[in-house]
Amino acid sequence: RKKWNRIVGVLMELEEGCGTEIGRLRQVVDAMAVEMHAGLASEGGSKLKMLLTYIHTLPDGFDLDCCVGFTLFLFLILIGNYGNDIRNADLYSILIDMSEEGVYYSLDLGGTNFRVLRVHLGGQMSMILNKKVERQPIPRELMTGTSEELFDFIALTLKQLVESESSEFEFRLDERMVLGVTFSFPVKQASASSGTLIKWTKGFDIEDMVGKDVAESLQHALINRGLNMRVAALVNDTVGTLALGHYDDEDTVAAVIIGTGTNACYVERIDAIIKCQGLLTNSEEWYLLSPCIVHLIIEYIMGFEKMISGMYLGDIVRRVLLRMSLESDIFGDATARLSVPFALRTPLMVAMHEDETSDLREVGRILKEVFQISDVPLKVRKLVVRACDVITRRAARLAAAGIVGILKKIGRDGSGGIASGRPKSGGESTIKMKRSVVAVEGGLYSNYTMFRDYLHEAVSDILGEEIAPYVVLKESEDGSGIGAALLAASYSSVR
Ligand code: ADP
Repeated sequence: RKKWNRIVGVLMELEEGCGTEIGRLRQVVDAMAVEMHAGLASEGGSKLKMLLTYIHTLPDGFDLDCCVGFTLFLFLILIGNYGNDIRNADLYSILIDMSEEGVYYSLDLGGTNFRVLRVHLGGQMSMILNKKVERQPIPRELMTGTSEELFDFIALTLKQLVESESSEFEFRLDERMVLGVTFSFPVKQASASSGTLIKWTKGFDIEDMVGKDVAESLQHALINRGLNMRVAALVNDTVGTLALGHYDDEDTVAAVIIGTGTNACYVERIDAIIKCQGLLTNSEEWYLLSPCIVHLIIEYIMGFEKMISGMYLGDIVRRVLLRMSLESDIFGDATARLSVPFALRTPLMVAMHEDETSDLREVGRILKEVFQISDVPLKVRKLVVRACDVITRRAARLAAAGIVGILKKIGRDGSGGIASGRPKSGGESTIKMKRSVVAVEGGLYSNYTMFRDYLHEAVSDILGEEIAPYVVLKESEDGSGIGAALLAASYSSVR
């Protein structure tokens, strides 16, 4: 009985420590917005890394007429304000290119899976006519080998994709192909198509690559494999997801990834990016007219990523089970096995959480499979499920606060009262809001229903019932890769 009380005590302590009542979440929202301000003010001004992507234009599936109209409008402003700037021509071709038919390739490297994609754009509305996505796991040895080996593997996989379609797309083979690269590690961008690796994350560790230009290394590997392909866009997965989100729905203002890791990006007014003002040369002044996508790395802030993302959730639950084991002997002699870091992978933790059998059979099976613990009484299995629930709920609610934090920063959370339009239902309120779409992608979000439900519920709770209908979270699939192909199409004429 005493032991049982101690285990229940562990759970109660956990619940208390993981409390995310609404007031606390609102504090996280505020802290997030404040840190974002600080991160934009100066380099190193915040623990939150705010990386500029140099992406200033997002695909939106305009038809040709719209493009020309839009371009001419901008063109006039540019001439009027800044004189004849070479970049006007770039801008013109960016928009025209989006409506051209073509086949674009992209690759998506950034976690457990590696993807190569082919996207066929065309038709009156520059629609995605068809797409092909091939996924495969990254061989573990390549994650810690040399950059040459990794990039050669990537180039080879791409080559196989291109060659498998040579009959269908023969016309492309002797032309230079265009590649968009999604590279989901911290990168210091030098332009929309180049940047140096700051550090590896998510189990990758290839020392010779840190500080080197990712696009250049890849370009090298492509040439070595005889691929006539140019890297036209180098982006983070969040930016790819934002690009596809915006292509599908122009109200998309931010993108969030919740997979192995978690991070986000959003569209910022360029004049709010104080730290880059001094860096602008005259020829770049037109950027002042356009927004800039800012990529946030939340890993560094408030332990955020470690409490939210798929890489860690299973392990947090393992630690709780270990603690329960140390407090009593409910798990027999399994303490040593429970002490092995990352022994419980997140998908298995999720399977325990989602076990709907009346006797929690699945929980029993997984505890046996992973930790060789057998015959766990039902009441203890129930505690295990409760532990999964507490950890997941906290993760989802913190992720929700992060998303609302971004919306707050850009005045889309209702607190700033950005004018434009009213909800259909009307009402007496004076708050005027714009519809804001956040594209969300990642294995944790898309596979884990309970996580997603908790997240949605918390976003609504934080925003309140009046504002919540204006904020739409849209699940995105393969957006990071397809979006990179769209951006490659947009930027293919910018050198
Ligand atoms: P990555 O983020 O590695 O590029 P994904 O977006 O596919 O790739 O996310 C993979 C992550 O999603 C895994 O690390 C895991 O934590 C989580 N995940 C995968 N499958 C499931 C599942 N069935 N339930 C919950 N989480 C899952």
